[in-house]
Amino acid sequence: MRRVHAPSIDSRGLGRALEQLRVVVRAKGLKRSGVRDAVARAALEYEGHFTAEELLSVVRAKGETEAHAATVYRVLPLLVEAGLIQESLLSAGQGQRYERAFERGHHDHIICTSCKKVVEFEFEAFEVLQRDVSERLGFRLTGHVHELFGICKSCQHTS
Ligand SMILES: [Zn+2]
Ligand SMILES: [Zn+2]
Repeated sequence: MRRVHAPSIDSRGLGRALEQLRVVVRAKGLKRSGVRDAVARAALEYEGHFTAEELLSVVRAKGETEAHAATVYRVLPLLVEAGLIQESLLSAGQGQRYERAFERGHHDHIICTSCKKVVEFEFEAFEVLQRDVSERLGFRLTGHVHELFGICKSCQHTS
């Protein structure tokens, strides 16, 4: 088992990601859009997990005053389709969360129910067990969501 951290994306990574988005945009016959690129860039640079609202405020803070909630809601599914981000923390409720998927490995999450801290980890044994379960049930595994809940160390000490 090892904790994982998303390395922040550099400008060349951003370039590769935006090119990947352009392929999807072109295939859909959509026009190039500066606001869309700004939303994509903010999503790729976001450290950690974000809601559409959190992403919107970052985009706005960067001076994209043309960005509205509707813009972000329209762009997010495109970014998912292009493989730039993925839906994340599905059981957290109160608004879907996303995180960067581009050039990041698979990982799972453990969430503190007290302070909402999220720790990312990778545990090969989980992966093996899940494939084993699927096989025994006659499934070919295509994905999984594994979220653990608990009380983190610092919250245990304050209560
Ligand atoms: Zn905590
Ligand atoms: Zn994550």
